[in-house]
Amino acid sequence: MSRTVRAARGTTLTARNWQTEAALRMFHNNLDPEVAERPQDLVVYGGTGKAARDWASFDAITRCLTTLDADETLLVQSGRPVGAFRTHEWAPRVLIANSNLVGDWATWPEFRRLESLGLTMYGQMTAGSWIYIGTQGILQGTYETFAAVARKRFGGTLAGTLTVTAGLGGMGGAQPLAVTMNDGVALVIECDPERAHRRVETRYLDEVADDLDDAIRRVTAAKRERRALSVGVIGNAAEVLPELLRREVEVDIVTDQTSAHDPLAYLPAGIAVEDWHDYAAKKPDEFTDRSRESMAEHVGAMLGFLDRGAEVFDYGNSLRGEAKLGGCERAFDFPGFVPAYIRPLFCEGQGPFRWAALSGNPDDIAATDRAMLELFPENESLARWIRLAGDRVAYQGLPARICWLGYGERHLAGLRFNEMVASGELSAPVVIGRDHLDSGSVASPYRETEGMADGSDAIADWPLLNALVNTASGASWVSIHHGGGVGMGRSIHAGQVCVADGSELAGAKIERVLTNDPGMGVIRHVDAGYERAADVAAERGVRVPMKEA
Ligand code: NAD
Repeated sequence: MSRTVRAARGTTLTARNWQTEAALRMFHNNLDPEVAERPQDLVVYGGTGKAARDWASFDAITRCLTTLDADETLLVQSGRPVGAFRTHEWAPRVLIANSNLVGDWATWPEFRRLESLGLTMYGQMTAGSWIYIGTQGILQGTYETFAAVARKRFGGTLAGTLTVTAGLGGMGGAQPLAVTMNDGVALVIECDPERAHRRVETRYLDEVADDLDDAIRRVTAAKRERRALSVGVIGNAAEVLPELLRREVEVDIVTDQTSAHDPLAYLPAGIAVEDWHDYAAKKPDEFTDRSRESMAEHVGAMLGFLDRGAEVFDYGNSLRGEAKLGGCERAFDFPGFVPAYIRPLFCEGQGPFRWAALSGNPDDIAATDRAMLELFPENESLARWIRLAGDRVAYQGLPARICWLGYGERHLAGLRFNEMVASGELSAPVVIGRDHLDSGSVASPYRETEGMADGSDAIADWPLLNALVNTASGASWVSIHHGGGVGMGRSIHAGQVCVADGSELAGAKIERVLTNDPGMGVIRHVDAGYERAADVAAERGVRVPMKEA
């Protein structure tokens, strides 16, 4: 059955209040064909990250949100609505738990067995928690990461450098634009031509080359001329990257965003795209072995570039872990991007703050962009990003914006948006959420918590406390997931979304949630022994009982 889902727009409620209307619109927005990678299968992004378990669950969630009162709470268990209880108006309207498994059972084969019985669903990070906003969601983080690479190695700009990476999916599609926004040249390997052409249509990728020779010609010319350019090439990363190494192409930066976190979502060398999903479904074990072998080849080539002096990092997809299982002993010789570039930001409670205009009107986002520039006039990199995004980002689904803000900043933005809704400056309420990839909301030893100073990488109490404190503080919906980003057994993470509907109550909730949520990032890093986090806590008044003696 083919169905097309699109969020309602405008100011007419289809649910009973704006809090539930917001959840309904964002749930539907995740499945908008402009937003979702495979909406017919309810898959939003990140391999098989879904918004609802099946279409019957989709209909039941829609029905329930449409009729839910302002003092009721819907419970969603891995994409299926399982209950609705009377709570109170400060409580979240939706509580979500996705893909969670008991430790010893937290493996892909067991997950898939349970999934095939219809008992669970993979929620990724923002797919099953209904706050995915298309590729822009990751664009800003990717832009900041490449800016950090530029600062660390290339004198503050990527001009005159060549970045080679792979994967032009929902998240990976942000890479070429993030590189060109930093004035660099990007060559992106993608096995599925449809994905590559889709990124050109949405202006994330400049062009697709005819073949590898053509691609090399285009990117080396642009690098020589210090001209920003992104080129896609159709091929398998496990074959093309070793070939680039053999041809001694001068590559400065290497990373990857194929869906390596799930061996069935990574295409092994020697298999045609058309045969991929059928083969993976019929022979998952054999496919997994081939996939890991290919990842070992892929990472082997990355190590080759590392040995030649390139800046090489894992971009949060578990590629190193899978390559190691495929026999690549040196897989962890290059770092993950969080310890390499992002952790100092996490110490300040900085992370991906995002919002979407429920009106569907791009003018509302333009007004919030102006408000952000007024609110944080001293923050130059924020201003540069907001201007670039306004110029170059094509919206997918409901218009939305993302930027990174820290502790002491996020609540100011939230309160300002709420006032703008109240005064009519915005034509309808706004939702404010974030990725689960944030400073205090995730335990993920191959990514966000890799190499923590005190060795606490795998301690997963933090994301659970994060979900609890957001629930206690008045978030509109809160979620706890397992396995997002890096796959089964490798992460536990939490999300929250608030709704700025212009009411006083919403303002009070927003102030608490958007203070306490990034506050978790600060205290998590204080506890792990980071001095910068301790300074931030002391300067900005975050209470840390163990420091109060
Ligand atoms: P996606 O499934 O939408 O896209 C993956 C792309 O990789 C697809 O287009 C696929 O055709 C391509 N691909 C697969 N195998 C390939 C191969 N061997 N050679 C060339 N292309 C290949 O996934 P996504 O949403 O883009 O996410 C990519 C990865 O990044 C996931 O593992 C995800 O968990 C991870 N991720 C990272 C971050 C971060 O901040 N760094 C955030 C979210 C997700």
